[in-house]
Amino acid sequence: MIRIVLTDIEGTTSSLSFVKDVLFPYSKKKLADFLSRHKEDPKVKAILEEVRKIEEGDPVEVLTRWIEEDRKITPLKELQGLIWEEGYKSGELKGHIYEDAYEKLKEWKEKGLKIYVYSSGSVKAQKLLFSHTQLGDITHLFSGYFDTKIGNKKDPESYRRISEKVGVPPGGILFLSDNPDEIKAAAEAGMKVIRVAREGENEIIERFPYPQVRSFYEIDPFRHGRL
Ligand SMILES: [Mg+2]
Repeated sequence: MIRIVLTDIEGTTSSLSFVKDVLFPYSKKKLADFLSRHKEDPKVKAILEEVRKIEEGDPVEVLTRWIEEDRKITPLKELQGLIWEEGYKSGELKGHIYEDAYEKLKEWKEKGLKIYVYSSGSVKAQKLLFSHTQLGDITHLFSGYFDTKIGNKKDPESYRRISEKVGVPPGGILFLSDNPDEIKAAAEAGMKVIRVAREGENEIIERFPYPQVRSFYEIDPFRHGRL
């Protein structure tokens, strides 16, 4: 019997394009203004110091180019985190969640299941997104959050660790994700799995050995296996 639903975010509860088309352009647009308003902030000073160590020149120009090149550099990630935090808190930025995901997660929770999140975005970023969605603060739905600190999402061992942490054997956990490798890893660890392939974002994979759906409306954790 399923007691826990463990869900991915990007491509599963939330649109893939949200990060690419909303979050990244937002940090680029706000960069110069944010730096000029926070130049005395010790956190921002330390970040700019790190930027200078990596590359000389006008930090606004350097950082803008890094955003365009989607560089995975710590000072850039930290600065983007601060810019997004300010955007969420001011209400200018809204985290995206699909309505079907919200409705079904809420229904499952009311019926006694516990909902956990497992995403490669940091736990801090996950909480920011879900506390400022277009449907409001929905963090009350979740019993806990995991990020890659628990392990890589394509490694079955990560799912065994999560099962230990939440105190439910893998067979009592239903994992939802758009990524086929994550689905395989969770299944290998013994979890029940369903791949979510959103229309316009992901394709249904032919001969995929696990169930696939287009939205959360097609998922019934209480009758898992009889979809
Ligand atoms: Mg995903």
